[in-house]
Amino acid sequence: MDVTETRGIILFSRDHKEKDKLVKIFTESYGKQMFYVKGAHRKNNPLTAALLNFTEGVYFGTIRSEGLSFLNGAKEITPFRHIQEDIFVTAYGTYILNLVDAAIEDRLYDPHLYGFTHQALTQLDKGADPEIITNIFELQILQRFGVTPQLDHCAVCGDQKGPFDYSSKYGGLLCERHFDHDPHRYHADPRALHFARLFMNISYEQINSIQLKVETKQGLRQFIDQLYEEYVGLHLKSKRFIDQMQNWSQLLLKPQRAPEGNNIKEDTPPTSEP
Ligand SMILES: [Zn+2]
Repeated sequence: MDVTETRGIILFSRDHKEKDKLVKIFTESYGKQMFYVKGAHRKNNPLTAALLNFTEGVYFGTIRSEGLSFLNGAKEITPFRHIQEDIFVTAYGTYILNLVDAAIEDRLYDPHLYGFTHQALTQLDKGADPEIITNIFELQILQRFGVTPQLDHCAVCGDQKGPFDYSSKYGGLLCERHFDHDPHRYHADPRALHFARLFMNISYEQINSIQLKVETKQGLRQFIDQLYEEYVGLHLKSKRFIDQMQNWSQLLLKPQRAPEGNNIKEDTPPTSEP
């Protein structure tokens, strides 16, 4: 069998028997693959670092079209160290990788999603706002779930300015003048929708200057949760963990983290938003 190599991102790993591991890798060239790693728990196994969560590398092994693939080695190992070491960021990174795992079939070649995932992790690792990075990811990966909400303009008149609300009936936005077309519209925060529209098409290189007020973030969270509830119906443990973390982080961790300059974005003055 041919040994082949591909760039990849570790999705997760779990122990298998006493000494071995099953490691799921999102490979750039062969989609998501489950690898059997023999003797992964041996001391000084050269693969140990390559198999840690939040690691990207070039992996080589035998890729099979059915069943498990086999991993022989790795090079150019690049850990996303900040994600690995910060419990907050780990939570968001885990959720993003869980979404990737849920959104596409195993073995499906999807280099675009690979690149997008790589960018999201890179941004998280650089200390960019994890909520914004995650919201952008959630909105743009909807397409892979076969969901394409129309967030570009009012579904009735084509208005592109807003303020908008979202309507399931129209599968898209309604401008203020056409709110009466759907009494069951989401009643979402118009500011949140403004940013959801933006996030739907933005690329990660463009986000450096975005800072959001806490209320706007909450509005976005609510809107995206509503979309996912209605169209995707996914209930990931990692997402629930983030929701819980939001609650206790206010009480416990933020005050401790702030003095370290760890890039927590507090509420910003209203002038920073359009
Ligand atoms: Zn309209």
